[in-house]
Amino acid sequence: MFLYNTQTRKKEEFVPIIKNRLSLYACGPTVYDYFHIGNARAFIFFDVVRRYFEFKGYEVNYVQNITDIDDKIINKSIEEKVDFTTVADKYSQAFLDDAKALGIKAPSVQPRATEVMPDIIAYIDALVKSGHAYEANRDVYFDTSSLPSYGSLSGKKTEDQLTGARVAENLFKRNPTDFTLWKNSKPGEPVWQSPWGEGRPGWHTECVVMSQKYLGETFDIHGGGIDLIFPHHENELAQAQALSGKPLANYWLHNGFLNIEGEKMSKSLKNFFTARDILQEYDAEVIRFFFLSKHYRSPIDFTRELMEESKRALSNFYEALKTVDFLEIPKILLDTSQSTEVRDFTSAMDDDFNTAKAIAIMFDLVKQLKSPSASEDDKHKAAKVMFYIGRVLGFFQNLETKLHKKQPDLSDALMELIINYRNEARNNKDWKTSDRIRDDLAALSIEIKDTPKGCIWTQKEQ
Ligand SMILES: [Zn+2]
Repeated sequence: MFLYNTQTRKKEEFVPIIKNRLSLYACGPTVYDYFHIGNARAFIFFDVVRRYFEFKGYEVNYVQNITDIDDKIINKSIEEKVDFTTVADKYSQAFLDDAKALGIKAPSVQPRATEVMPDIIAYIDALVKSGHAYEANRDVYFDTSSLPSYGSLSGKKTEDQLTGARVAENLFKRNPTDFTLWKNSKPGEPVWQSPWGEGRPGWHTECVVMSQKYLGETFDIHGGGIDLIFPHHENELAQAQALSGKPLANYWLHNGFLNIEGEKMSKSLKNFFTARDILQEYDAEVIRFFFLSKHYRSPIDFTRELMEESKRALSNFYEALKTVDFLEIPKILLDTSQSTEVRDFTSAMDDDFNTAKAIAIMFDLVKQLKSPSASEDDKHKAAKVMFYIGRVLGFFQNLETKLHKKQPDLSDALMELIINYRNEARNNKDWKTSDRIRDDLAALSIEIKDTPKGCIWTQKEQ
């Protein structure tokens, strides 16, 4: 398996630290708002990384942080005149809900920065004692000139770093690229006690502490969006390197940018979409399909046209799967694992997660299925292989849930019956009855939605 390593700027063979185990850290959200569709790309991609390693038989330890103390959260809490924890709790929950709605499997560990504060303070203290950090004006800074390898991840030369860092930030820094590990609090801001007085940590320190606490000094893969390489990941790496003299991660993976209709997404251009917005319009798997149809390192352009295309493609896949008897799944997995297409799929994914090629293989299978010369047996086989590949990428999750029902039950038929009664009531403009049916079902955790295609129902998890 070969991965493109940002650190070395080339594809390298993947060798895990421990055989058949993967330690993976991907930066999670700073919870001051709903996350946008660009963030969703990273979250979905690393979900696929995790799923693929699991498919290969790895035991995956996937850590994703939740940054619940940060300037942006404090600013929002001032704006909304609420406590910072109110903001952080609200958007943490929204993040978890939206990630779940996107079909993202929960990470193995999801620590919050405020939960590891003693670790953070001890880490900064160790950096100060080692001479790599210094206190100035009740803040603590990392001294980038103390680390000759500083800049190795992003490959930024000093002049670039100067423009990247906020140069004129203050007069207390020794070097313009020095970054804040601990900042003293202004009145009214949340505080923690530290050897440098009351204050709070900087983002780069929060992340490095959370990753090493759960994954060790050096772990296999560290990932995130390309915009995180500098300064965030560079600064995470600098702190780890300064303390342990070892790399923080053996492989650094970064996904490319997302544009909206050819333009950079920004609130001022009014082309800013949250994942929540897009989920209102498109099924989670359509969004997943859209992202995976491009290689993760390429920039991707979010357009209605491509989303509609993804929707059509995915419904073709589902259509093709109608021929599969899902009660046979265990056998399907056994039957198909040796097929040519599964081998092609594996080599595509082993080549730096070429999901675009993996999806092309699924398209080929649909073509085979639709070929007039295909026998019933061929069709059945192609459908099974497509199911097999698709589920590794996180598709067909709705079908998966159905599979877990041991025997065909009456609920579909009964629901159809109830929905017919409700439709009848609605046709008669008997809103009272139709609303009551909806509410009674809601009490049973069954949600019904009226769509242009008719009424659909979903059962919420208990
Ligand atoms: Zn991070």
